[in-house]
Amino acid sequence: MIETEVLVIGSGPAGSTTALLLSTYGIKNIVVTKYRWLAETPRAHITNQRALEIFRDMGIEEDVKRLATKQDWMGNTVFCTSLAGEELGRIQTWGTHPRRKADYTLASPCTICDLPQNLLEPIIFAAAAERGTRPRFDFEYLSHVQDDSGVTTTVRDRLSGEEVRIRSKYLVGADGGKSKVAEDIGLPFEGQMGVAGSMNIVFEADLSAYVAHRPSVLYWVLQPGSNIGGIGMGLVRMVRPWNEWLIVWGYDINGPAPEMSDALATEIAHKLIGDASIPIKVKSYSIWTVNNMYATALSKGRVFCMGDAVHRHPPTNGLGSNTSVQDAYNLAWKLAAVLRGQAEPSLLDSYDEERTPVAKQIVTRANQSIGEFGPIFEALGLLNTEDPEVMREHMAARKENTPEAARQREALRKAIAFKDYEFNCHGVELNQRYTSVAIVPDEEPDPGFSRDKELYYQASTRAGAHLPHVWVLKGGHPVSTLDIAGKGKFLVLTGIGGEDWVAAAAAAKQKFGVEVRTAVIGPDRDYEDANGEWALAREIAEAGCLLVRPDMQIGYRAMRPAADAKDAEEKIFGALAHILGRKDKIAVDKAA
Ligand SMILES: Cc1cc2nc3c(=O)[nH]c(=O)nc-3n(C[C@H](O)[C@H](O)[C@H](O)COP(=O)(O)OP(=O)(O)OC[C@H]3O[C@@H](n4cnc5c(N)ncnc54)[C@H](O)[C@@H]3O)c2cc1C
Repeated sequence: MIETEVLVIGSGPAGSTTALLLSTYGIKNIVVTKYRWLAETPRAHITNQRALEIFRDMGIEEDVKRLATKQDWMGNTVFCTSLAGEELGRIQTWGTHPRRKADYTLASPCTICDLPQNLLEPIIFAAAAERGTRPRFDFEYLSHVQDDSGVTTTVRDRLSGEEVRIRSKYLVGADGGKSKVAEDIGLPFEGQMGVAGSMNIVFEADLSAYVAHRPSVLYWVLQPGSNIGGIGMGLVRMVRPWNEWLIVWGYDINGPAPEMSDALATEIAHKLIGDASIPIKVKSYSIWTVNNMYATALSKGRVFCMGDAVHRHPPTNGLGSNTSVQDAYNLAWKLAAVLRGQAEPSLLDSYDEERTPVAKQIVTRANQSIGEFGPIFEALGLLNTEDPEVMREHMAARKENTPEAARQREALRKAIAFKDYEFNCHGVELNQRYTSVAIVPDEEPDPGFSRDKELYYQASTRAGAHLPHVWVLKGGHPVSTLDIAGKGKFLVLTGIGGEDWVAAAAAAKQKFGVEVRTAVIGPDRDYEDANGEWALAREIAEAGCLLVRPDMQIGYRAMRPAADAKDAEEKIFGALAHILGRKDKIAVDKAA
């Protein structure tokens, strides 16, 4: 029997990131994956700031950036009749509009970028293997049995046919949208699979003549049939600028799936490009369905599921791989803390509490975004006809000098602008705030969000929120507050006058065996707040304190300075005991 601490099923973004984090934290792990290699098709591509922050924490952000298409080239999302045809409208996307760019720049040290999944996965996976993960390709998960001390999993070596048993303390099911692990532990799901039919066609073609002057990663095509199935409209998606592409086209889920062939794939590609003279090399095609389903519990005992295994949704909003990476970031430090004996297993309950609402939110948002293409079809008068001639007439009507045409133009502008909820949905990407056993309830009443919480990220130091990013200075060089946190460790962040918190953090190491790093922000301290941005962001008194968890979420905040050293100790010990579920807990309410 092979033994390890954590067995991870699946090497997609969720499984690879879990393995990388565990290995970085010094936890033994094995990843088994069914196929001979990692993702072979581009699949996910939008890589949002939260996912990049995790890669930054793991030291692989630069590797990702080196291969990625930059934000500057992601912005001109076009709606057209074909790439060669008429452009109907545009929206500046992924934070590239000057009015939104500041929001994105202020929110994070990382810049959103585009990297196809088949290029991203090897970066994460190689780093995991380098740091100690033991990979097993062509190994298929079959079943598992758990008991009080661990999990025994049976996998099949698909090359030899041999069955192998692996004993681990914990099992992570990161085995994608058809997760057998989730099925085996009987996770409850809400929603529906297979709500629309879709196909991907990956091809090589030099399309620079049609796109280089309006660089984007998404070109949406309105043609007869483009509102049937699929993801709301026909899509030509950039894979590599400007010679590799992925088309998403729909089919009626109530009928049979189309019989795909190179010829049909080429025909569809030429139709969406609008120029049949462009040479095309079809690389692959696949049929898939749009799903609208999320789990309402993510774990059972020693088995935890994550990624598409628990949230199954279309690619709209680009949330799938990003959320999978974030699931891993939430769970990995908790597994490490429990396995090191620093936390009680009850800490692991917080994984479900914190990530279940996110699963529901992203599945709902991604599906809603498909429906929100409707008003564009409506504005152009395309809803009640499939006749190409009538469609052309209705679209052309908006060019007239009539009040009706002016209304049509206005409706189209509004319908396109509303797609902000898919393409500039910064709040959905970054606003996750947790309430769980691993967060000490905040002292202050929750003021809520001052702007639309889907569209806009609102930084906060409330307990449960993500540590705000601010550039502070170290020796005159800018350092993000996020760079001070993370690395698998707790952090106490305070200002001048907060020295009692720092002493309490040092004492916590002795009391709990948990290393709590510290940082004092102020003149001639660890970091300087030269431009006063931290003072604006911190919301607490200068000598108050934030206790930041290893996943950069704030686990506890003290609004005011500690009364004295004893008070600081009681509060920090109490907060750590609360978060880690330790029996030697000091009631933080009493201390507060
Ligand atoms: C066209 C398209 C575009 C997309 N665009 C985006 C985007 O822009 N941004 C975004 O964030 N997301 C996007 N997504 C979604 C994204 O691809 C998924 O959400 C993401 O891959 C989920 O990661 P995962 O690790 O949970 O699962 P997967 O990547 O599906 O990985 C599952 C893993 O489990 C393994 N496995 C499965 N069964 C077994 C078994 N029995 N035994 C062993 N191993 C097994 C597989 O081999 C694989 O390694 C897109 C998806 C598609 C199809």
